Amino acid sequence: MVRILGLGPSGAALGSALGEALAVDPNKRYYKACGEAVPVETPLVSREFVVDAVRRYRFFLGKREIGEVSYGKPRWYIVDKAAWVESLRATIRPSEDDDDVVVDARGPYASRGGKLIVAMAYVEGVRRDDETADFIFPPGLTGFFWVFPHGGLHNIGGGFLGVDNPIPLVKEFASRLGGRIKLIKGAPLTVMPEVDLGVEGRYKVGEAAGLVYPLTGEGIRPGIISALALADSLGTRKPLDEYRRKMAPVIRQIQLQKRLLRLASRIASSGGGISLLADDALLRDYIEEELSAKGLFLALAKRPIAAAKLVAALLRR
Ligand SMILES: Cc1cc2nc3c(=O)[nH]c(=O)nc-3n(C[C@H](O)[C@H](O)[C@H](O)COP(=O)(O)OP(=O)(O)OC[C@H]3O[C@@H](n4cnc5c(N)ncnc54)[C@H](O)[C@@H]3O)c2cc1C
Repeated sequence: MVRILGLGPSGAALGSALGEALAVDPNKRYYKACGEAVPVETPLVSREFVVDAVRRYRFFLGKREIGEVSYGKPRWYIVDKAAWVESLRATIRPSEDDDDVVVDARGPYASRGGKLIVAMAYVEGVRRDDETADFIFPPGLTGFFWVFPHGGLHNIGGGFLGVDNPIPLVKEFASRLGGRIKLIKGAPLTVMPEVDLGVEGRYKVGEAAGLVYPLTGEGIRPGIISALALADSLGTRKPLDEYRRKMAPVIRQIQLQKRLLRLASRIASSGGGISLLADDALLRDYIEEELSAKGLFLALAKRPIAAAKLVAALLRR
C-alpha cells in the first residue's frame, strides 16, 4: 500500500489517481500562498474550480511596457486552488494496510535547492483589463511582481532574490495600484531546484522532487504530471525507471531553464549587455525550440529582444 506524505496538489493528485492510500498531512485543510495560475492543459483541473482566465500577458520594466501578447482563447486558468485540492483529497479512500511504498509530497519543505519566500495577496479595488496577467520587473530588484485576475479580485504577489520578506514590498505595490488587501501571506518556493525523484520504494513527487520551472516558479502542472506519472509507474516491473522515463521531458525543461539562468547571470555579472544574451546560442535554442512550444514565453519567441530584456531584468540586482 502507498503512504503519501503531504496532500498539496501533487500528493492529493497521486492519492486520487491511486484511489486508495494512507495519506498524511498536518494541515486538515489545504491553504498555501500561490498565484493559482495553471496552463489550461493542466490535467485534473475541473472547470468548477476555475475562477478566472488569462488570454493576454503584459511585461513591464518598471512602468514601461516591454512586451505584450494576446490569444483568442485562454492560455491559463486561475483556480480556487484550496477548493480544488480539497476535492482531490476527498476522492482518496483511506487505507489501513502496511505501507510498502512511501511517497514524499511535502512540497518545498522536502525539496533540494535554494528557497525563496514569495508573497501573495488577494486585493480588491484594483482596476485592470479583464483576462490579463501582468508581470512587472522593478528596477533594482531581481524578480518580479505579478497581477493576476481572480474572479472580481486580483491576486498580486512577488518574490525577489536577496529579499527575505517580500510582504512589505507586495503591500506597497498593491497600494500603489489603489488596492485594498483582503489577505496577504508568504510561502517558500524552490528556486534553482535539484531534481530528485527518490529511490525505489521511496519516491518523491511535485515540488518535493524539485519539479518547479525556475524561470516562472510554475509548480502545479509539473506536480500533477509527476503524480500521474508515478501512479502509472507503480504497477510496472521497474517503477523508478518508468517514472524517470515519463518525467524526462519535464526534467529536461527544468535543467534548460536552470542553465539559462546561470548563463544569463554570468553574462550580467561580467558586464555583458543584452545583445550578448540575445545572440547566445543557448538562449536562441531556449526561445525557439523549448519555451516556444508552450506556455508563457510563446509570444516572446517572436520577439527575442523583448525576451532577452525580460531575462536580463529578471537577473538584474
Ligand atoms: C507565493 C507563491 C505563488 C505561486 N504561484 C504559482 C502559480 O501561480 N502557479 C503555479 O503553478 N505554481 C505557483 N507556485 C508554486 C506552487 O505553489 C507549488 O509548486 C505547488 O503548490 C507544489 O505542489 P505540491 O503539492 O508539490 O506541494 P505543496 O503545495 O507545497 O503541498 C505540500 C503539502 O505537504 C504538507 N506537508 C508539509 N510538511 C509535511 C509533513 N512533515 N508531513 C506531511 N505533510 C506535510 C503541506 O501541509 C502541504 O499540504 C507559487 C508558489 C508560491 C510560494
